[in-house]
Amino acid sequence: MESKAVVSLANGKKAFGDNEVLKDISLTVNAGDVLAIIGPSGGGKSTLLRCMTLLETLDSGDLSYGDLTVCANDAAGRAVYGGKDVIAAAKTRFGLVFQNFNLFPHYTVLQNVTDALICVQKMPKDEALARGRELLARMGLADKESMVPCDLSGGQQQRVAIARAMAMNPDVLFFDEPTSALDPELTREVLKVIRDLAAEHMTMVIVTHEMGFARDVADHLIFMDGGVIVEQGPASEVINNPQHDRTRAFLANYD
Ligand code: ADP
Ligand code: MG
Repeated sequence: MESKAVVSLANGKKAFGDNEVLKDISLTVNAGDVLAIIGPSGGGKSTLLRCMTLLETLDSGDLSYGDLTVCANDAAGRAVYGGKDVIAAAKTRFGLVFQNFNLFPHYTVLQNVTDALICVQKMPKDEALARGRELLARMGLADKESMVPCDLSGGQQQRVAIARAMAMNPDVLFFDEPTSALDPELTREVLKVIRDLAAEHMTMVIVTHEMGFARDVADHLIFMDGGVIVEQGPASEVINNPQHDRTRAFLANYD
């Protein structure tokens, strides 16, 4: 696999009022890599993902998707974002999967997957439907396209959300605790889909509490606490042999 940065953040900072949630976060994800992010609740993991996927703005830092600079610091050290075109282009480079699926409740499964293709990307409708059906088939949902989300299990809904996130053919997929709303059986079926994507060398950033999964699937792992990266390294090394007390204390909850 070539080592090409798909997304990188340098010195990312974000505060809500006087609550400094991201203190100085730098990370790079190369093509084909799977990065797992773990850490205690309130540590800033979701905020990091939300800043990287443009749902929140950074106070300072440099964020780029490949050759596209999304924001960079000005002389005063404040993040200055690119214009509308840059933001629109960046939004085609990633997909995001939320904890609670966030599907459109009154759209069918197929409409959920194809909506952005038709409305944002202006893809011809028959082409979008064909792509949507292909993605649903990959997620094992070929027979569910006409159903609405509430008629599906949580695991099926999350697989629809993954198909939707992949519709624009993104360079990287972000997952924010994709299985934490699911019971163990449904968790397994969603993790299997993510494992399959990893085997196909999909570039992914996954916030998760599934340590066995992170150890097996992720190449690199970041332990985040209090808005900083406390420790990082190869996923199996960090999980099997953490170097910092805070990492050890956190992982002890998962034995
Ligand atoms: P994690 O995902 O690791 O549990 P979060 O990023 O959700 O952590 O939260 C980190 C901190 O940021 C928490 O103190 C949380 O209350 C705060 N926070 C997150 N989003 C907002 C927001 N929109 N407004 C104010 N505070 C927020
Ligand atoms: Mg979170």
